[in-house]
Amino acid sequence: MIRYAKPTTVNEALALLGEGQWRLLAGGTDFYPALGNRPLRENVLDINGLDELRDVSETAAHIIVGARTTWSDIVARELPPAFDALKEAAREVGSIQIQNTGTVVGNLCNASPAADGVPALMILDAEVEVSSHDSVRHLPLRQFILGNRRTALRPAEMVTAIRVPKVSTAGSSSFFKLGARRYLVISIAMAAARIVVRDGVIEDAAISVGACSEVAQRLDALESALRGRSAQSAPDIVEDRHLGGLQPIDDVRGSTEYRRAAAREIVVRVIEAALEKAVPAGQPATVAA
Ligand SMILES: Cc1cc2nc3c(=O)[nH]c(=O)nc-3n(C[C@H](O)[C@H](O)[C@H](O)COP(=O)(O)OP(=O)(O)OC[C@H]3O[C@@H](n4cnc5c(N)ncnc54)[C@H](O)[C@@H]3O)c2cc1C
Repeated sequence: MIRYAKPTTVNEALALLGEGQWRLLAGGTDFYPALGNRPLRENVLDINGLDELRDVSETAAHIIVGARTTWSDIVARELPPAFDALKEAAREVGSIQIQNTGTVVGNLCNASPAADGVPALMILDAEVEVSSHDSVRHLPLRQFILGNRRTALRPAEMVTAIRVPKVSTAGSSSFFKLGARRYLVISIAMAAARIVVRDGVIEDAAISVGACSEVAQRLDALESALRGRSAQSAPDIVEDRHLGGLQPIDDVRGSTEYRRAAAREIVVRVIEAALEKAVPAGQPATVAA
């Protein structure tokens, strides 16, 4: 017989996970469409009773996004400018109804190559907090999403939070999504950039591209090329070789060549947009209560 449980504390949820096989249900905006017309065959652990996980908080070293935080929660929250890319991604996820229900963590756990949250969190060096009844581990996002619909989650584990190191919240950021239309659309390609400028010179850069490989990629070579360059010259620095790590697929939404060309163009645009919003280096990261 299939079981359904809706615990009200994280400890209760983790204890249940330790007792058997469960499928987690958060906002359900990926969960239910993935079922299609098939009946439910797995035990369902509904995490919507875990109020303690619906929060954005901070410690001395991290900004922490609880696993039940929705896209709308992110948009409504006052966050450092480095989170602008995540807010811009949030506004592009589906529709307002989807943003009100869908969680940022659900987006990561679903591990779609077109998940809009991934590039915006990669530029923040986000880590995923994975908990079970007897352990907690923190995995860099790059090690959490292993491939198309594949994550490093083990049986009896759930994601309890995303944590962003405060050292990675310097600078300004931007996100750009290319779709076949403007609204309610799956990305053909998307990019996020976070740039730290001091005295007109790029001190640090983090650039990520999604939907152009199984898992969104950081453009390490481009980031190195940008560091130490004048902010003015930055958009001209982008070259095809900087996007060499991308492996765009050929599908109904776009050919490999189109995706590669589009990725280069949107990378230039997010760099320009982040630079336009540039905030002085050294501004402290805080989260308004
Ligand atoms: C109409 C529509 C439009 C959409 N548009 C977009 C879009 O533009 N961009 C985009 O990126 N996505 C889009 N999506 C996909 C979806 O809305 C997002 O990925 C959303 O963030 C998923 O969150 P959720 O809380 O609904 O996850 P759920 O559907 O509840 O869960 C998704 C998966 O993650 C697992 N899971 C959830 N929470 C946890 C946890 N804490 N620990 C472990 N596993 C967990 C679930 O078991 C499931 O496998 C769209 C979906 C729909 C239906």
